[in-house]
Amino acid sequence: MNMFSQAEFIASVGKLSELPPEGMPELVFAGRSNVGKSSAINALAGRRRLAFFSKTPGRTQTINFYDLGGQARLVDLPGYGYARVPQSVRAQWDALVGGYLTNRDSLAGVVVIMDARHPFMPHDLGMLRWVAPLGLPLLVLLSKADKLSRVERKAALAAAQQRLALTGAYGDVLLFSSPSGEGVDQVRAMLERWLHARLAAGATPAAGNKRPPVKGK
Ligand code: GDP
Repeated sequence: MNMFSQAEFIASVGKLSELPPEGMPELVFAGRSNVGKSSAINALAGRRRLAFFSKTPGRTQTINFYDLGGQARLVDLPGYGYARVPQSVRAQWDALVGGYLTNRDSLAGVVVIMDARHPFMPHDLGMLRWVAPLGLPLLVLLSKADKLSRVERKAALAAAQQRLALTGAYGDVLLFSSPSGEGVDQVRAMLERWLHARLAAGATPAAGNKRPPVKGK
């Protein structure tokens, strides 16, 4: 059974002091608001409303943690790039997400979701600037691929691979569509590979291991 289908909500965290204790490897999902992040998480889990908790009022600025079969966690970061948020909310987002990403030994990899039609927007590049120095496996998912023709999809994938290389971040790029299911199996397989690599390297702080310098997959 795939561990994503066993996803269970654990916690919704608005302050660094409330983060759940480290222990299991964590797969982080990031993306602009409305890019399709909740839909992608639901598609991976094979559920309709799992990740829509993050949409409830007052929860849009929280980091949401899901347990994956007691072996790993999926971590849904608050969406970024709202056009009209006050500076104070932006600063809060930076402190929460930046604090989480830069001080978490359990990180096993990062998935940055971008709209296949408009990838690498300024906030996406900002996210990649945070992620690149972590040296973690990285996957850029091009969401809403169903809105592109076959020819456009191929071009979008090639362009995004080139664009990612220019950012200095090393990672894979896949096309994804929640309604059609395109990319779902590939993403699950890739994330499971990351987790197995991480578990094999000794993931838990309890085991006395610090994060090894994982590069690529
Ligand atoms: P989030 O804010 O990033 O969590 O985005 P949501 O998952 O809530 O999706 C935002 C909107 O885009 C919703 O109306 C979804 O139905 C739609 N959407 C999400 N993923 C896809 C996709 O792969 N294809 C299409 N056509 N629409 C999508």
